[in-house]
Amino acid sequence: MAKKIRIFSLANKLGLRTEALIKVLSDMGVEDVTPASAVDPDTASAAVELLAEQAEEARRQAQAAAEVQAAAQETRAEAEDTEEVAGEEEEWEEEFTPPVHDADLKEGLAELEQYLTELQAATEQERPETPAIKPLSELAARPTGKRPESAVDVPPVVTVLGHVDHGKTTLLDALRQTDVVSSESGGITQHIGASEVSVDGHTIVFIDTPGHEAFTAMRARGAQVTDVAILVVAADDGVMPQTVEAINHIRAAGVPMIVAINKIDLPNADPATVQQQLLQHEIVPEELGGQTIVVPISALKKEGLQELLEMILLVAEVEQLWADPQGDFVGVVIESSIDPSEGPLATVLTRNGTISVGDIMVCGAAWGRVRRLRNWRGKSVKSMGPGHPVEVVGLSDIVEAGEIMQLASSTRQARSLAEEAQQTKRERSLMGQAEVQLRQLQRQFGPEQLKELNIVLKSDVWGSAQAVEASLHKLAKQLGEIQINVVHSGVGEVTQSDVLLAAASKAIIMGFRVDVSPEARRAAQDEHVEIRSYEVIYEVLDDIRRAMVGMLEPIYEEHPIGEAEVLQTFTSSRFGTIAGCRVTSGRLARGARIEVMRNGAQIFDGELSSLRRFENDVAMVEAPQECGVAADDFDAWEPGDTITAYQEVEVARSLSGQAAESSNS
Ligand code: GDP
Repeated sequence: MAKKIRIFSLANKLGLRTEALIKVLSDMGVEDVTPASAVDPDTASAAVELLAEQAEEARRQAQAAAEVQAAAQETRAEAEDTEEVAGEEEEWEEEFTPPVHDADLKEGLAELEQYLTELQAATEQERPETPAIKPLSELAARPTGKRPESAVDVPPVVTVLGHVDHGKTTLLDALRQTDVVSSESGGITQHIGASEVSVDGHTIVFIDTPGHEAFTAMRARGAQVTDVAILVVAADDGVMPQTVEAINHIRAAGVPMIVAINKIDLPNADPATVQQQLLQHEIVPEELGGQTIVVPISALKKEGLQELLEMILLVAEVEQLWADPQGDFVGVVIESSIDPSEGPLATVLTRNGTISVGDIMVCGAAWGRVRRLRNWRGKSVKSMGPGHPVEVVGLSDIVEAGEIMQLASSTRQARSLAEEAQQTKRERSLMGQAEVQLRQLQRQFGPEQLKELNIVLKSDVWGSAQAVEASLHKLAKQLGEIQINVVHSGVGEVTQSDVLLAAASKAIIMGFRVDVSPEARRAAQDEHVEIRSYEVIYEVLDDIRRAMVGMLEPIYEEHPIGEAEVLQTFTSSRFGTIAGCRVTSGRLARGARIEVMRNGAQIFDGELSSLRRFENDVAMVEAPQECGVAADDFDAWEPGDTITAYQEVEVARSLSGQAAESSNS
């Protein structure tokens, strides 16, 4: 058992008034403490960290204020004398050693950090080291294989999908109300993004955000949390475009589906027609001799809900879901937001293991110590075992849905994992390359392998969608060595949801006589999805044919990406001569080719080998920031030199060019 620390002695150690420490503890949710109360090392450590954060924030604000002041001074100095170099020198000193304006604060912070390190070292001795990190998508999946002794059954996770206004939200509300326990305990105080419903002694977890965008966004990040999907179809409206989209998204995810035909209370409800319409999309209801469970319901009148819940359990039973509370903790983020008083919040579905207050967590580029946990009803809990949603307070930043949360064995490990994640993300976005590209088709597979191409197809009208699809399959047959899977075929512009589906299904998007919405374009860039637009079927087929023989090789052109001006030079024992620069436009990137000009003449042409901002090595610096630049093969920098950075940029091939070329062949 770890030794507890009394509040007054902890305050004493920290050089704080006891009241100030009690206030911090109360911010963390630790109530009813007096100076004589004792807290465990985890809580003490969390309090110290919070204090350190507050001190750091104060320092940052002081520094920001100082920078504003320095900038103002600089402007004044420039106005007075543009030849004056001494001022710039001072400025560079500042740029590379962040000034601390409050000596007491600095000293206090150093002490805090020292104490924190000691405290952590003492606490960490009691914890076993967690093993090395496995690939994230693997961790997010349900455990398979041998079930350990300590394993427990876990509830299925259900997502509700379907066309707008068909009653998804009403259904989720109605299901929550069927849970007697929650109404007995005075209802739900606060939604955390997922709910639990109990039926016949079993629990079912519902994701509160309905719709296929959220469902697929999580998949696109590598996390497939849904065990059973409910497709809601309104009995008076039937299968609509978003119903078809939802069907395709569910199929692409390979998740079992239950159809809920809703609004059967309406006089014009026609469930039989809905069943017929489903057949057209290859969903065969049990009633018509197929496999798909269809439950008629009225979410509004709360009819058929019990049966729907029982069917969910039935489907889930087949999957035999279990997790190990004693295993390594893995959680998947369902949603994340920022609370003005508590900071970043994340609702996490615990997949395996247990998370407790005081644990050190890492989630993508964010990390922190768990300050508070809340169950789905918004009640504070000390820990949460697998299978349940939990809201976590204490992360350094908000995180994306679908991101994986893990625990670290020390704050140092957490910080370095978070930094690594941040760096990978940045580098990936700098590369800006699509994950699956048509032109890569040839390269991605060996010569003997069957080439598989997943396509999300969007067309102007159904007629052309069918025509394109038919031609694609015909072509695949002709070529023999390629399998084309149309993951989704729809009518209308390319939307964000198409992009997410393509990202999750490792597909490319083909737009046939349709536009791409601005959100979709942005998403395609973020998710690294290739979108190709076509006007005639011939171009589509030609493109695939060329991809097959590796003829869609990219064309690279070198483009200028940014400019910088050398303000001052200085020498570093590690890097030789460093040019202190201001980026005047665009960006500088490590590894970019640079051209250095002086008085209109080129004095260097080579690689930018080191890029630093403050004390850190960085991959990129954007205008109007300042940075330190070094080149391995050049050190004759002088103030006034200008730098132009170049990078190879992939140039889109013009379709007309391709068509013209191929008609000759
Ligand atoms: P969502 O867009 O799919 O989330 O749909 P909503 O849950 O917001 O429902 C859309 C509309 O349909 C609302 O006016 C609901 O009151 C209504 N509605 C939902 N379920 C039923 C039902 O079972 N019967 C009837 N008559 N109306 C319903």
